[in-house]
Amino acid sequence: MNILDKDIFYEAAKKYGTPLYLYDLGEIKRRIKLIKDTLKDLNFKIFFAMKANSNPYLLKFMRSYGIGADAVSLNEYKVARFAGFSPNEIVVNGNGKSIEDISFYANEKPMCVNVDSYEEIKKIGDLPMRIALRINPNVDPKTHPHISTGLKENKFGMDFETAKKVIRSLPNNLRLVGLHCHIGSQITETEPFIEAFSSLKSFAKEEKLDLEFVNVGGGWGIDYMDKNDGINLNRYKNDILPILSSFDLPIYFELGRFIVGSSGYLLTKVKEVKRTPHKNFVIVDASMADLIRPALYDAHHEIEFLSGKSEMIADVAGRVCESGDVFAREIKINVPEIGEVGLIHDAGAYGYSMSSNYNLSARPSEVAFDGDKFILIRKRENFEDLLRLIEEDQIL
Ligand SMILES: *Cc1c(COP(=O)(O)O)cnc(C)c1O
Repeated sequence: MNILDKDIFYEAAKKYGTPLYLYDLGEIKRRIKLIKDTLKDLNFKIFFAMKANSNPYLLKFMRSYGIGADAVSLNEYKVARFAGFSPNEIVVNGNGKSIEDISFYANEKPMCVNVDSYEEIKKIGDLPMRIALRINPNVDPKTHPHISTGLKENKFGMDFETAKKVIRSLPNNLRLVGLHCHIGSQITETEPFIEAFSSLKSFAKEEKLDLEFVNVGGGWGIDYMDKNDGINLNRYKNDILPILSSFDLPIYFELGRFIVGSSGYLLTKVKEVKRTPHKNFVIVDASMADLIRPALYDAHHEIEFLSGKSEMIADVAGRVCESGDVFAREIKINVPEIGEVGLIHDAGAYGYSMSSNYNLSARPSEVAFDGDKFILIRKRENFEDLLRLIEEDQIL
């Protein structure tokens, strides 16, 4: 639950309006320390998965703690460069890279490009590149099917047989510097990691590869329910670190959610408390256009209204015209007044970065709190922004 003072949320809502993403920089710092403490016996490097949150200010903040960037698109790569990362601090991921993307990376020389398929090797042709092979180890990460990535029916990576084929036919312009696997997101059990990393280990040994590192991706799950339901780091330390140490190589991580998820709050205001014969609804000014995770993944986010008289059971719903635009169903909340501020917790990852203009919603602003003051790190979109790409004279 929130560790910031209520007044901070009221002040932010008043100063910047709602809906609003507020990030607690202190929490990001704590999460980075937690990761470093967990991995301290390992030779490791962390890359931040930018798709979780690509705000340049936050990227720069994380970079100041020695964290690199993981980009899954050319635009993410360019934003990482904009935020101050040098090419050798960036790892490139993604399936379906275009020839244009690949030529760009060949010029830039990022730390490594993770190759997703045999076909991608053909696409790279004779361009020089440092590469890692993204292995799909066919492991069930026991998470929501939409965020599982390492099963054989998922579109990501190559199976071990294909990887062997790639290794046997590797052209001289490509330097195989690593193996990569990322089996999914919001993983809270250790077994899937054990299974994946063990098979990666056997493969590396069998193939006698001379590598610079092994990249084990991200996926560490967080405590959305507020019941210690995130990944258990003690278990990670005891069960997984020994496997990772046995590679005798630096281990790279691509963590997104675990670093920024709990730092973010989506602040919203109550528009209406609606009572029907069947149900109560609290309608707020945020919606699935701002935070799509509940609608897309049935994701749970803790929600609270900062004050209210008695308690009620209600659905907290957004203002978009979709029945799926509900943040939480039948939860116990304070009966809020119109205009009361609500907090949607743990919205720092896959929140703003997945937002849209659906219903012609303008995207919210993003604000960082450094323990002392607010910093506006992205302005709210306005009406003109929504028409910015339309050529007026073609219509009138
Ligand atoms: C999304 C993604 C990550 C980060 O996942 P989290 O669950 O946010 O840690 C890491 N690596 C790759 C290749 C990804 O696509």
